[in-house]
Amino acid sequence: MLRIAGITPFTTIDWPGKLACVAFLAGCPWKCPYCQNHELQHMDAATQGEAELFSFLAQRQGLLDGVVFSGGEPLLQEGVIDAARRARQMGFAVGLHTCGAYPQRLGKMLPFLDWVGLDVKAPWSDYDTITGVAGSGEQAQRSLRLLLDAGVSLETRTTWHPDLLTQDQMAKIAHDLAECGVRTWAVQAYRHVGTTGILANETVYPSDVPEDLSPLFEHYEFRRA
Ligand code: SF4
Repeated sequence: MLRIAGITPFTTIDWPGKLACVAFLAGCPWKCPYCQNHELQHMDAATQGEAELFSFLAQRQGLLDGVVFSGGEPLLQEGVIDAARRARQMGFAVGLHTCGAYPQRLGKMLPFLDWVGLDVKAPWSDYDTITGVAGSGEQAQRSLRLLLDAGVSLETRTTWHPDLLTQDQMAKIAHDLAECGVRTWAVQAYRHVGTTGILANETVYPSDVPEDLSPLFEHYEFRRA
């Protein structure tokens, strides 16, 4: 049984290059201070279930390329794996937004995934300072390894608030990713709107990204989160 907080019927930005709908699953084990979906961190944010999602998808067959499972952290709910399988059977491509907190479940979902957007929140050893959870960097690193080994289409993205990550930490992230074989990295500037307001209303600009980082990737993008 999936617990879904909302469905965006049509988007061109949540899965670059695809026309997709997005199912926002309730619940997340981490507590990032810049979270723009913080109300989805709790299971009681759910208002819909699997029946609503698949009834919606049945009406969109042939009209949408795919469905993105987002959140919250979709893999908190193991049922997302079977939902991905069902969506694939209906002819939809399947995308996933994940923070990488559940590498084992991610491994089970891989056969049904066409594209993944993986958050990379900090250098692996500094993760706890952002997520508030010990060991989170190891989980995310294992998830990245699985995705790279599987060869699934992958975008890594890092949200940057100047009080949370220094330029040196951004450089460390970029070099670590490039050395692992990551080809796509997006820097997402912190946006205050939609957060709990716990962070200062400050942001970063494209010129803040050290010049030698973007050439490390085949695809690099600076975007407003
Ligand atoms: S992992 Fe994502 S959904 Fe969870 S708290 Fe962090 S930003 Fe929010």
